[in-house]
Amino acid sequence: MAKWSNWSGRQTAEPKRIDRPTTERDFVAAIGAAREHRWPIRAVGASHSHSRVAAVDGLLVETDGWQGLIGTDSASSGSGSTGSGSPDGPTASVRAGTRIHQLGEPLYRRGLALVNQGDIDKQSIAGAIATGTHGTGPTLANLSTAVVGLRVALADGDVVWCDSAQEPDLFAVARHSLGAVGLITEVELRVRSRYRLHERQWFASPDEVLPEIDHLVDATRHFEFFWVPDRDLCACKSLDELPARGNGDDEPSGPSPEVEVLSDRERRGWSHRIISSIRDDKHTEMEYAVPAEAGPQCFAELRQMILTEFPDLVWPLEYRTLAEDDLLISAAAGRPTVTISAHQDVGLDDRPLFEACEEIFRSHDGRPHWGKVHYRTGQELAELHPNYRAWWELRDRFDPDGLFVTEDLARLRP
Ligand SMILES: Cc1cc2nc3c(=O)[nH]c(=O)nc-3n(C[C@H](O)[C@H](O)[C@H](O)COP(=O)(O)OP(=O)(O)OC[C@H]3O[C@@H](n4cnc5c(N)ncnc54)[C@H](O)[C@@H]3O)c2cc1C
Repeated sequence: MAKWSNWSGRQTAEPKRIDRPTTERDFVAAIGAAREHRWPIRAVGASHSHSRVAAVDGLLVETDGWQGLIGTDSASSGSGSTGSGSPDGPTASVRAGTRIHQLGEPLYRRGLALVNQGDIDKQSIAGAIATGTHGTGPTLANLSTAVVGLRVALADGDVVWCDSAQEPDLFAVARHSLGAVGLITEVELRVRSRYRLHERQWFASPDEVLPEIDHLVDATRHFEFFWVPDRDLCACKSLDELPARGNGDDEPSGPSPEVEVLSDRERRGWSHRIISSIRDDKHTEMEYAVPAEAGPQCFAELRQMILTEFPDLVWPLEYRTLAEDDLLISAAAGRPTVTISAHQDVGLDDRPLFEACEEIFRSHDGRPHWGKVHYRTGQELAELHPNYRAWWELRDRFDPDGLFVTEDLARLRP
């Protein structure tokens, strides 16, 4: 029996077999083996999900052997490996197991960059889009919205390209798939011209931040804060795009320059070097997405609850914004969003804190992050996501025997 655990070590599983594909044919062979043995099958990327969305006791497919940028396209005319034919700007085609940090420099050298990134850049691209991974910024939607096409190895062994024109139903369900639609082998992503960001960091009391929050959010490309409960203080961060310098510096070239440190509170640099941070302290995490207008009040209630009921908590709440999207089961579907996450030490019981937080998130119509801890049932999720049942119906159409439905996912069926 093999062993798997997620990044924090909190989630574990004992798969019957682990495959490590290095070709697309290997992905198809893994599906064949799972079908033959009637084992549920799952791919994992970086295993950074706090929820059991990647756990499987059947066949686990580790995708680290299938990485790299395949190519970029500024305005292509076909669909498939190197382009969606979209007139809307450049795209990049990427092998599914590629970690986000492996994309920064190759894209930079082509004059390109991801539109946004999350707090860290360790995730695989297929893993990140499966759970709707996001960063912060009121005009910036989650990473799954950047997907313009996918190659998917389906439960019947067929490998299918899908985008908004070709196999649109498969595209709709697979671009935010919870790993449950097939094994994704290739992702084509919308990217943009590379850009530099100016970062500012400062501390402020929540009583100063909250009255100013709309201004802070609207005045910058990315604004977020971590509220540190034992100091009752917000560590705020803003990132603003710098104008292109126009002296050739923005032309494709060699490696990107190091980040410029202007002071202990200010830095400047190319987006892939600035947006993500290092988060090595092992923790577990719950995150909910609430309607943007409810964000400040929801945070205020969480703060009050933590100060009175969890006075020893040292782990922060993180407050971010996220643009509305139209994906079937996205946490930001149909509404501009604020996301708030609570963290707990991996050595402590996270349930008391997370249950207390979830009660507040519930009262603000919150939707849980698919890659983080929550205690919602399938029925409840169907009430929170207008298209939840439609997502399941499509999923079932592409995998009628439920090869990709793990025990944990089956519990979330509406
Ligand atoms: C320290 C830390 C920081 C984080 N920061 C953020 C953040 O800023 N924003 C945010 O939104 N989230 C964040 N997360 C959550 C994380 O981004 C998501 O859980 C993401 O899904 C993890 O990517 P992964 O490659 O580790 O995927 P995994 O956890 O390995 O898998 C996630 C899902 O993707 C599926 N999957 C993986 N590869 C494939 C494939 N090839 N084909 C089909 N399905 C596949 C899996 O089956 C599973 O369902 C953070 C997590 C940690 C631990």
